[in-house]
Formats: sequence, structure tokens, C-alpha cells
Amino acid sequence: MPFTTTLPDTAGLAERATAALEACGAARLPDDGGAPGRARTPITGEELFRLDFGTAKTTEQAVTAADEAFRRVWRDTPAPVRGQLVRRLGELLREHKQDLADLVTIEAGKIRSEAAGEVQEMIDVCDFAVGLSRQLYGRTMPSERPGHRLMETWHPLGVVGVITAFNFPVAVWSWNTAIALVCGNTVVWKPSDTTPLTALACDALLRRAAADTGAPEGLHRVVLGGREVGEHLVDDPRVALVSATGSVAMGRAVGPRVSARLGRCLLELGGNNAAVVAPSADLDLVVRGSVFAAAGTAGQRCTSLRRLIVHEDVAEEVTERLAGAYRQLRERIGDPFDDGTLVGPLISERGHGAMQDALDRARAEGGTVVTGGGRVGEDAAPGAYYVEPALVRMPGQTPVVEEETFAPILYVMTYRTFEEAVELHNGVPQGLSSALFTRDQAEAERFVSAAGSDCGIVNVNIGTSGAEIGGAFGGEKETGGGRESGSDSWKAYMRRATNTVNYGGGLPLAQGVEFL
Ligand code: NAD
Repeated sequence: MPFTTTLPDTAGLAERATAALEACGAARLPDDGGAPGRARTPITGEELFRLDFGTAKTTEQAVTAADEAFRRVWRDTPAPVRGQLVRRLGELLREHKQDLADLVTIEAGKIRSEAAGEVQEMIDVCDFAVGLSRQLYGRTMPSERPGHRLMETWHPLGVVGVITAFNFPVAVWSWNTAIALVCGNTVVWKPSDTTPLTALACDALLRRAAADTGAPEGLHRVVLGGREVGEHLVDDPRVALVSATGSVAMGRAVGPRVSARLGRCLLELGGNNAAVVAPSADLDLVVRGSVFAAAGTAGQRCTSLRRLIVHEDVAEEVTERLAGAYRQLRERIGDPFDDGTLVGPLISERGHGAMQDALDRARAEGGTVVTGGGRVGEDAAPGAYYVEPALVRMPGQTPVVEEETFAPILYVMTYRTFEEAVELHNGVPQGLSSALFTRDQAEAERFVSAAGSDCGIVNVNIGTSGAEIGGAFGGEKETGGGRESGSDSWKAYMRRATNTVNYGGGLPLAQGVEFL
């Protein structure tokens, strides 16, 4: 099937990326003699620039700079003053929203409104963190001893190592960094090796914010590169917290390495998110909510909808209406810079291979592809991977459905009783995001109760993707258990001290113990 849009050429995209980088203040690509790297775009599948990636030595130097900035200045800077740095960062992000969004589209292939939405999320989390800088509350508890005060105080950890995935190249960095900085930590960031340019732009904006507010220059460092560079960061004992976002496989490698040195880890890993559709559901909401959650971002969100568990009474109608909506999407696949486009490219040939593999397995396990799944536009860009989102009817939750395939595949299954729906829903190893569409209040309450969804994010009458920053974000089981962003997630970036202060003159022992 041909594209309805024309793809931009790679030279034009490289020029646009250069302009955005320069506007953010990251005029020069690093050339410090590191390992050879490159920036590419999934829009054409071609290389944009060559640039230097980090090495063991540059990572070590970055941690040294961040550690010194922490010890010399940042940990003793009052939290509301630290907040001023993040407020300035938020201002710069507002000013450069379009530049960053352009880079997100160029490197991650997100359509314009989703790329702008990702930058908006950065601005929102900065606002949140500025408020938080005056609310890092500890408790005071009544002491059992006369003349004593018992209280908790919260202190920064030190250097936070942030490792991020390709699909939220800037938002996840900001969730971690804005909160870590107001908590008094410094940050070394290893972005995905597929999105180095967005990282350079963010780093440049934060350096500008630091210069404008008198914060130490070393408090943030970026180290570009792949897995090896991440491993150097993970193994460095000066990195007090490793906050790593990515696949379950990455978490399985990183978690034990950090634990082996008794460091702290915050893991945000893969999801395999489902929505349950009850017979009472408003099917207009179901269709709109499911299509965005399953096909938006070309199915490349950790919260993407991958499983639809539909009551058998409405399964035919839901599948038909979804198939109709999916057919309309076919006309809207292509250049993510085109305002008419809804589905941009997959990140890589590997992503496409994983999708085709999963579809083959689904067929072998008894599934039927209702619509989609094919590659489009290969004549326009042989190195790029655009696909029609796939809708697949499955006979049940077969092995392929239990895995996360990072591509736009929506598996549809049926259920009879609500208990069966919840069992299917929870019957996968991952536990990130979940949804129930219903008009039955009792069902809604059961779904959000302890006996309902076992995920970290549990929604009613909205899809699985598109979380707000005000809540804590993260998932259970193989998703890793970490929480980032809003609510009291800041506690993961601090250490708690319990203080007992004796102002009474005597020395009464706790629990009434007598000694000497
Ligand atoms: P990935 O696991 O391939 O890579 C993620 C990051 O980890 C990259 O920066 C990579 O270089 C680094 N890395 C990989 N192995 C490492 C190791 N052994 N040591 C140190 N660093 C290592 O993931 P991806 O393909 O970039 O992103 C897609 C995956 O991320 C999906 O599984 C998606 O669900 C998940 N994700 C989860 C969340 C969340 O908040 N739960 C958010 C976004 C993406």
C-alpha cells in the first residue's frame, strides 16, 4: 500500500536537527575522542550524523564531576534554592518546546502532537518539582521519653545514574532529573543510543539553567552510548541510585549488578497492558480509547494497550468497530511531521522483525489477524519501517500474548464472568498499566480493589496509556516495582534519617531499660 504522505529527505532532517540543537545551546556535537557513534532517524532509516559516544573513562569522569558537585555544593544548598534551578529549566523547556519536540520526532519518530505532549510532560514535572522543593516533609513522632524529640529527616543520596529507553527519550529523563535535583542529588544520564541528540539538547538546557541560577556546572552530565556505557554507570559504587527504564531483559541484567554492590535501584521495565471491556461499557469510549492506546506511538509505549479482554456478548461488535477504525488508520501512516499522520515509523528493523515474529507465532497459536500487520512505504524509504497496526483475534491467552512485543499489535480475547476477566488480566508476568471499561459501579470498584488489577496503574473508562505526572508512575511484577514522577515518588531519591534529640538533661533509656 503506498503512502499518502511524502517522506522528508535525510539531509533536510539533519538540518532541522542541527537548528534545534543550536537553538537549545548544544551547538557542537561531542568530539572528545570517545567511541564512534551515530545519530539516525527512523523516519528514513538513515544516518544523520556521526558523533562520539562515551567510554569507561568518560563515564568515570562524569561520575567524578557529579560526585564533586554533590559534595561541595548541592547537598548543602537549601531545597527551595535547588527548586530555582528546576524552575529555570522549566522556563527554558517552555521556550524550546518546539525544538525539543522536533528532535523527539526526528529521533524517536513520534508524531508532532505526541512529541509536543512529551515535552509538555517535562514542563509539568518541573512545575511539580519546584513545589516539591518546599515540601520535602519529615514527620515528628511523640517520643516515649521525657525531654526528647523524635523525628525523621530526609537527605539526598548522592549521584543518581539515570538510564533511559528510546521511546520516551526526554520525559523519563525529566521525571528523574527534576525530582532528583530538588532532592539534592546530582545526575549522570545515559540515554538510549538511538536518541543521543535529544539528550544533548536537554543537557545543554540544564547547563544553561545552572549557569543562570548559579548552580554548579558539574551537577548534570550526559554519557552517550549503549549497553557497555550503561554498565560502567551501574558498576560505579559512587552512583548511589541507578534509575533504569527499559526492557525486562535490561532490568534482569542491571538489578543484580546494582544489588551485588548493595546500591539502590529503581526499575521501570516492560508492560503487557490490558483493558477489560464489560457488557455495560460505552463502546464509543472503548473504540477511541483502545485505538489511541494500541496504535498511538506505533505501539511503542510501555503503557501501550496489547490485550483487549472483551465480554463475549459484545466481542463481535467491538472487534468489528475496531477493525473499521484500524482500516481508517491505514491512510494516516507515514511522515510523523505531517499533521495528518497518526502512526509514525517503528524505531528499527529489529522492532519490525519482532512484530512479524509475534504475528507468525500468534497465527501458529490459533490466532486470526483481523486487519493490519503489513509493512508499508518500503519503496519510499527502504531503511525505514512503517507498519499497519494489527488487530488479532486470539482463542485465549496463549504464550505469545503473555510477552511484550514492542509494536502495534492488539490481541482480542473473550471472557464470560468478571472473575475470569480479572484472572486473564492478571495472568501475565508484567504489571504496568490496566483499564476497565464499564458502567457498573460495583465492577469498577472491584477492579481498583486489592482483588482486582495487579498493576501499578489501574484505570476505569480510559485507556492504558497517557498517565499524568501528578501520580506515582510504575508497575509491579516483572515491570520492576519502581515508582517515578508524582505523589511521594521523591522518597526513592532520598535517604531517611530517624533523629532522637535529648533536650531534657537526664538519660532515660527506651523501653524503660535500666543500665548503670
Ligand atoms: P532497552 O532495554 O533495550 O534499553 C533501555 C536502556 O537500557 C538503554 O539506554 C540501553 O542502552 C540500556 N541498557 C540495556 N542493557 C543494559 C545493561 N545491561 N546495563 C546497563 N544499561 C543497559 O529498551 P528500549 O528498547 O530502549 O525501550 C523499550 C523498552 O522499555 C520496552 O520494554 C518498554 O516497555 C520499556 N519502557 C518502560 C517504561 C516504564 O516506565 N516502565 C518506560 C519506557 C519504556
